[in-house]
Amino acid sequence: MNTTVNNIVVHKAKSSKIDKVDFENLAFGKVFTDHMLVCNYKNGQWEAPQIMPYQPITLDPSAKIFHYGQSVFEGMKAYKDEEDNIWLFRPLENQKRLNISAKRIAIPELPEEYFMEGLKTLLQLDEQWIPTTAGSSLYIRPFIFASGEGFHASPADEYTFVIACAPSGAYFSGKVRVLIEEHYSRSANGGVGYAKAGGNYAGQFYPTQLAAEKGYNQVIWTDDNKHEYIEEAGAMNIFIRIDDTLITGPTSDRILDGITRKSILEIARDEGIKTEVRKITVSELVEAAKSGRLKEMFGAGTAAVVSPISAFGYRGTDYDLPELGSSYAELLKKRITDIQYNRAEDPFGWRYKV
Ligand SMILES: *Cc1c(COP(=O)(O)O)cnc(C)c1O
Repeated sequence: MNTTVNNIVVHKAKSSKIDKVDFENLAFGKVFTDHMLVCNYKNGQWEAPQIMPYQPITLDPSAKIFHYGQSVFEGMKAYKDEEDNIWLFRPLENQKRLNISAKRIAIPELPEEYFMEGLKTLLQLDEQWIPTTAGSSLYIRPFIFASGEGFHASPADEYTFVIACAPSGAYFSGKVRVLIEEHYSRSANGGVGYAKAGGNYAGQFYPTQLAAEKGYNQVIWTDDNKHEYIEEAGAMNIFIRIDDTLITGPTSDRILDGITRKSILEIARDEGIKTEVRKITVSELVEAAKSGRLKEMFGAGTAAVVSPISAFGYRGTDYDLPELGSSYAELLKKRITDIQYNRAEDPFGWRYKV
């Protein structure tokens, strides 16, 4: 049965899978809702999006995504408050960033209304899938890939935009141990580090596996030139607290412009916490750890929100971070999630009602 909602054709699933899902024990991104949004680019333009039952995608073996990795994605979440209202957090930032990423990978930009109207319609249809247990949310994965065919190493002539959603529990459990990486690089000047391009993450897996063999959960990426500056924590932006100042690096070609990062900076300023956006060297970090001035380190990103770091390894030495009674990480996480779940005022105007 087809219906049209907000000008989007909806092919409804015959039956729902929702009864099979254990909402009390959700992993992260492992089960998927009943529907997905699909939008195709053909003959030089994006066609109107459609919603269809969640299902596998069939592609020709020569589809360029398989060979040249032409793909970009976003990560966002939908939240339900106690009155069953559905909320997004700064979704237009994700919409804009998807197109910034797309441009860098020679993927045609997607019209804003296809993204926003498509997303809202999909969320309204699958709203029962938005979990309400503490810390859980509906993780939303919009992505575009080259579905066009041919072995020639050039941009595809056809693309597919999909939004898939996964009810998810909290991302990380516990504090993470990280290794400062001095050999491998995540990104380079003039490269694609600022884009959420699929291949960026493939390139991180092997160095992260090596770090895991040494007992670390995650890699701290440093600059590709001299491995002198702290850049990101895995696929998260990084914050470092020295004394009572919260420091994060400036965004660049190599550092992704995280929405959590910029929200945390604004909340911290609102809280009267001194913030600095500047380059920070590995040696400054080590010195601060040695002198006891290093108070906190944490990653920031949509999935985990804030991911506190318990220790970092550098050139064979582990440096432990102190256990704090009240941390910036905890305070900032509470403030941002209270806004996201509509538990507190939103003086910044970030919450977006679906
Ligand atoms: C997605 C991502 C982040 C975090 O961005 P958010 O908008 O906060 O989710 C940080 N670094 C990298 C490399 C990322 O891919």
